[in-house]
Amino acid sequence: MASDSKVAIITGGASGIGLAIATDLKTKNWTVIIADINPTTGLSAATSIGAIFHQTDVSSWDSQLSLFKTTFQKYGRLDFFAANAGIDDKKSIYEETEEEKERDEPAQPYLKVIDVDFVAVVWGVKLASWYMRRNEKKGGVVVLTSSAAGLYPMATNPLYAGCKAALINFARSVSSTYATDSIRVNVICPALVPTAIFPGNLRDFFPEEHITPVSTIVSAYNKFIDDESLTGRVVECAQDQHYFRKQVEYPSESQRWMNEDSGE
Ligand code: NAD
Repeated sequence: MASDSKVAIITGGASGIGLAIATDLKTKNWTVIIADINPTTGLSAATSIGAIFHQTDVSSWDSQLSLFKTTFQKYGRLDFFAANAGIDDKKSIYEETEEEKERDEPAQPYLKVIDVDFVAVVWGVKLASWYMRRNEKKGGVVVLTSSAAGLYPMATNPLYAGCKAALINFARSVSSTYATDSIRVNVICPALVPTAIFPGNLRDFFPEEHITPVSTIVSAYNKFIDDESLTGRVVECAQDQHYFRKQVEYPSESQRWMNEDSGE
């Protein structure tokens, strides 16, 4: 017997953007599953808003399979999936490490960010669509959290920017296939939302007019949930979109910003 209330899974729901979406859906009486790798923040976030916590490492297939399977077995439906968990990585594949220099040989880089920010999302979309097809009324909504870094080059974070760009084309590509099962897949590209993903205080580096309130992202998520005509869409959620475009138009300005960002 399927649950009466709609059911949502939100990865990375213990904090920042994910928690804001979870909180909003709870106020609308959804059953919300917060899936996060961090058991401390995950449990406390879920308890504070009346959600369910499922400890999940999205970069493990088994962990995500258990999340989706348990949810569907318990509630008999899945209406919404936010593939939102993500990590930033400023690792450079250009710089040579001391060890590499010593050995005079390049070492295979460990690219965790690709596992979390891209591969895990592909797995999540596969799992979500599998269960959404099995809803009593076939279908559901999937939203991926990409980034403005997926739209504009970001020399400080090339791996992150690469993964976030890949998400955009992945979502747009799968959306037409999934439409036949009434599964809508859309993408959100936030910029400069003050969350824990930034070490330190974002406002120390960027003027207030560039900071995007988390409520802007929640509104965009809601539009994708509510508007049944939307699939394969990409929305940029930046308080000042012009600012980011300018970084691309004027590389020297971008360089200055990068230096500020890395605290130089
Ligand atoms: P955040 O650090 O507050 O939240 C990220 C959450 O993901 C944390 O709770 C963390 O524990 C969880 N997480 C990390 N690795 C995980 C894993 N392997 N499995 C499960 N959970 C994991 O940051 P946020 O800003 O809320 O980030 C949410 C998403 O928004 C990310 O995908 C991020 O790339 C994206 N984003 C954020 C901004 C911004 O300005 N804050 C801009 C663009 C994109």
